[in-house]
Amino acid sequence: MLVFKFGGASVKSAGAVKNIVEILQQYNEEKIVVVVSAMGKTTNAMERIIESYTAGKSEELKQEYKVLKAYHLEVTDGLFEDKGQKVFAEVEELFSDLADRLAKEPTLNYDFDYDQLICYGELLSTTIIGNYLNSSRVSTRWMDIRRSLKTNNTWREAKIDWELSSQLVNEHFVFNGERILITQGFLGSTINDQTTSLGREGSDYTAAILAYMLKAESVTIWKDVPGVLNADPKYFDDTILLEKLSYLDAIELAYFGTSVIHPKTIKPLQNKNINLHVKSFVDPDKPGTLVGNLSYSKLTPSFIFKMDQVLIRLSPLDFSFINEGNLEEIFGIFSKHGMKINLMQNSAISFKMIVNNDKRRLRLVTDELEEKYKVAYQTGLELVTIRYFDQSTIDRVMINKELILEQRGLQNIELLIRDLG
Ligand code: ASP
Ligand code: MG
Repeated sequence: MLVFKFGGASVKSAGAVKNIVEILQQYNEEKIVVVVSAMGKTTNAMERIIESYTAGKSEELKQEYKVLKAYHLEVTDGLFEDKGQKVFAEVEELFSDLADRLAKEPTLNYDFDYDQLICYGELLSTTIIGNYLNSSRVSTRWMDIRRSLKTNNTWREAKIDWELSSQLVNEHFVFNGERILITQGFLGSTINDQTTSLGREGSDYTAAILAYMLKAESVTIWKDVPGVLNADPKYFDDTILLEKLSYLDAIELAYFGTSVIHPKTIKPLQNKNINLHVKSFVDPDKPGTLVGNLSYSKLTPSFIFKMDQVLIRLSPLDFSFINEGNLEEIFGIFSKHGMKINLMQNSAISFKMIVNNDKRRLRLVTDELEEKYKVAYQTGLELVTIRYFDQSTIDRVMINKELILEQRGLQNIELLIRDLG
């Protein structure tokens, strides 16, 4: 049994959905659990809908809802000739459920409301694609992941109940004559059946969880890139495809911010020694990247860029030093406001942290820090991580840049730089 994950870009139009059917037909000997994201940029659109809903902006809400519905109807229309097919009624029903929810008053809990609404993206995509697979004679059963993946109630960042979920997943994800089980990425539910979500871009993680619980042979993530590249083509023109990656390298690259792999995805796979393929849905015959229990002699340097970084420098207001007590307090403030620290460095009298320029969180954090520390910050920086660095890779990154701070490990170097161009 295989697990395939199709992200938003791979199902963004009728043409794209037809392409994934072709891919599935190439694997006609296999039983496959197919995990699907919301179509195209639907989750972003849903987020705008949720904003308008909770802010009481009914005109915007109406407009966004209309656009979302028109988009899904256009895809459905493009897939089904026979307008009497049940998929049209099912899509209509999902939209009327969504409209009913949007007609109710928001609760006081934004994150709870978010999860109850955000799920429609994945419910719609899997409903449309599941029906299309069946109409293309790829026998498919639609599964509501919320019946199987149980989580706590940390809305928008829910934690999996591994034991209970594993039992339910194995009970429900059984092939009864069909070749494909299609289900939603990114979603789960509490023990009381309230919908939860696993964090943005969480569908890869869902695929890994299901593979782990069902002991799949492998997972394939189908992307619009040829595989995992050693740098983002946005910043480098001569990128290299990493054909093989060890679990450790994949975890490190994901941790430092390689956007192709979601950081939580690798651990469950590594624990059960399940291979992960990252392949192109445009060129499905190309091998892509294989992540597994692998070793290799040639270590290709990888570059990870984080733009728009902020350096925060703290020093005590009195003559004291930075110690465990201060650090506990500082980390407490960051964690309370959900601000992630990308890099830190300390000395006796100062503590430096590099964070994303998330203005709202940054204000909350610095306001609180200023009560106890002298706070200085510098914006407009770039953080570059090089895994398997050497002097020539550093030189390449440093062209026309000023070095603000560096942290060197055995395998990785992190350079905080300012563009001089
Ligand atoms: N649809 C969700 C998102 O865009 C989950 C995913 O695509 O992985 O974040
Ligand atoms: Mg996505």
